Amino acid sequence: MRMVMEHDLNDDILIGEEGKKRNRGEMEDATRNIVCLRSGYSMIQIPIAETEHEDTQVWKGELSGKYSVCSAYKLLQDANLGSETKEFYRKLWSLKLSPKIAVTIWRISWDFIPNLANLRYRRVATNDRCPRCCSWTENSLHIFRDCPTTIEVWQFIHLAWIMNNRSQNLWEWLTWVFKGGTDDQSRLFCYALWLIWFSRNKFVHEREKTTGRILAQNIQGHMAEYEGVRAMTNTSTMRRNHKFQEDIPRVTIFFDAGFDSRNNRSATGLVVWDLRGELLVLKTIVHNSVSSPFAAEAYACLEGVKLGIALEVQSIKLMGDSRTVIKKCRPNLNDKSVIAAIIRDIQNKKSCFQEIIFQHIHRSRNSQAHRLAKEALESGENFYLTREELNSHHVVSERRRPRNPD
Ligand SMILES: [Zn+2]
Repeated sequence: MRMVMEHDLNDDILIGEEGKKRNRGEMEDATRNIVCLRSGYSMIQIPIAETEHEDTQVWKGELSGKYSVCSAYKLLQDANLGSETKEFYRKLWSLKLSPKIAVTIWRISWDFIPNLANLRYRRVATNDRCPRCCSWTENSLHIFRDCPTTIEVWQFIHLAWIMNNRSQNLWEWLTWVFKGGTDDQSRLFCYALWLIWFSRNKFVHEREKTTGRILAQNIQGHMAEYEGVRAMTNTSTMRRNHKFQEDIPRVTIFFDAGFDSRNNRSATGLVVWDLRGELLVLKTIVHNSVSSPFAAEAYACLEGVKLGIALEVQSIKLMGDSRTVIKKCRPNLNDKSVIAAIIRDIQNKKSCFQEIIFQHIHRSRNSQAHRLAKEALESGENFYLTREELNSHHVVSERRRPRNPD
């Protein structure tokens, strides 16, 4: 068993201090177990040959006494990994991350990464000062938890709680985050660790500097790209493309309509999210003399475009569950249907934006705008609530704020 471990260690070019300490501790524990066994009653039970012969080496892991890789692996699992360790790796593999990310996290967990503190310990580097902030030794905890750029990242991706316990060492910190976080949070945490390390390398080798904010957007973008729609709704991230362009802040406007055929009235519900996935505005508008549900949907879309103009954003994405309206809005063709006038209004306003995207979504993903429109149709109330108002008027916001569809 000892031989296997040493072989592994030698094979690795870089072994962090943390990893080594853990290895050593676990080796000592394992050795102690063997010694205890030998010194106990079991010693008496060892059959002794009547005639003297040379000592031979026997492999403990197999009843036959012969070495096998399979038994060595099992021994390492049972003897060296405590329950906390097993739990950590069980969760890591169950998160179903892409292999390159999972392996990076595994290496970080053993402190097997070439940070400057590890390089200095191996006498490969002389200076171990963090190249980003130039204030502290660049060990793994500094890179992933304490460096100011990293702190910004955790704040932007809403994982600031993971910095609450600064007295932990790397291993304690990782296991604590995994234990406390939901699967989604742990997955986001892993993506972040991976990209933080990636961007750190870019900075060291190519001098490519990234801010915490851009890094956070890249993390959410990567995760959304990999996990698709599920991650988008769970983390309220409305951006798919991770290549963030700083100069075009895109907002996403969900629109829906409610229609009252008896009174020919309709109501528009609008929910606006900024690119960080934070709620920006909730708005309802009641319309009179509306001919059909189609017209109601078209009005809702038009109101969404107008709101985009009022918010002075250069790039917007309008998301609605009316396939007909979305389809008609996309090309600059002359529409001749009953809602042609409204579509033309929408088309004419397109030029107010540097980029405007119309996207059809399933009704189930539009429940917030739907609920707003329905409420407005019942109450006949127009309202406009900004983020600040939503935060300061708890009573109103609690009533108005759409609940999470999950
Ligand atoms: Zn730093």
